[in-house]
Amino acid sequence: MSVVLTPRPGILDITPYVGGKSTLAGEASAIKLSSNESALGPSPRAIEAYKAMSTDLHRYPDGAATALRDALGALHGLAPERIVCGSGSDEIIDLLARAYAGPGDEVLYSAHGFLMYALAARGVGATPVAAPERNLTADVDALLAQVSARTRIVFLANPNNPTGTYVAADAVKRLRAELPDRVLLVLDAAYAEFVERPDYDAGVALVDGGENVVMTRTFSKIYSLAGLRLGWAYCPPSVVAVLNRLRGPFNVNTAAQVAGLAALGDRDHLERARRHNEHWLVRLSKRLEQCGLAVTPSVGNFVLVRFAAEPGRDAKTADGFLQKRGIIVRNVDNYGLPDCLRITIGLDHEMAAVGEALEEFTDDTKER
Ligand SMILES: *Cc1c(COP(=O)(O)O)cnc(C)c1O
Repeated sequence: MSVVLTPRPGILDITPYVGGKSTLAGEASAIKLSSNESALGPSPRAIEAYKAMSTDLHRYPDGAATALRDALGALHGLAPERIVCGSGSDEIIDLLARAYAGPGDEVLYSAHGFLMYALAARGVGATPVAAPERNLTADVDALLAQVSARTRIVFLANPNNPTGTYVAADAVKRLRAELPDRVLLVLDAAYAEFVERPDYDAGVALVDGGENVVMTRTFSKIYSLAGLRLGWAYCPPSVVAVLNRLRGPFNVNTAAQVAGLAALGDRDHLERARRHNEHWLVRLSKRLEQCGLAVTPSVGNFVLVRFAAEPGRDAKTADGFLQKRGIIVRNVDNYGLPDCLRITIGLDHEMAAVGEALEEFTDDTKER
């Protein structure tokens, strides 16, 4: 006789993560603006390195990702021995949850924060706790107000996905200062390279300031290597020692390591991606505002757009309207934002298409 096995508590409470849609039925060349991948794609040098490693597929990866960590260290001015690489920063988020939280513990994040935090918490049997936001922005006081004796980790996406908003460096510093020392603060800076604000900081100095801050980064966004799964964390020595025990010995595959390394060397490509984003972030935001839509000011490579609540003019209808025109954006219901859609900055013609489509949508629906 067979029985259905019972997993550890928390696991079946997880709503499985659903990524951005990538195809539309009957649409060969859909415009995909649903997963925040960089518009320009990866550096040609990364693609070259990826192809070249195909002759080495029989070899295990360098489990320590030495060349990659050395290059990251040189580029960012960090000690390579304080860097841990992961199969995407999602893996690092998961490892941190496994290392520092468990049943009976609480994992704190802001209400519209990145979904992975709650998933990672539940995955280890911990309780996810969401703090309210102010103007769709993480609120340091609200986060601090939710801290309890059971809080073990605070995850802060800065800038946040899907809102695109950020918390200024002095406020992040105050958050760390006012959190109990026993709470780990994880600064998820997945979009750091896109941010052009003098009061923004990804968090290196805070990591250096003690034993209880970690900064995570990714190659999925501006480097556009999401398919290879590559992320990294800058950590205090005590956290490095923990993550290196917990991670798989070969958690980062060779393709990711060589392509990531090559991508780091192509600063011109990164600069093009940044400039492209800056250009369209402003333009698309303006164009959508001129349509009467509310656009949350974003410093990432995407915008969160709020639609009217009335049936026929709402986000769901807009999503369907865009899909009929072959444009895929992100529905953010599961982030508690049912009135909104998240639109990734894409190529010139894609931005023209989405702008035109939403102009048409708002024009059509205005007349009713
Ligand atoms: C996309 C994203 C990540 C993660 O990406 P990986 O592909 O797992 O490196 C992490 N945090 C935020 C806020 C993101 O939007």
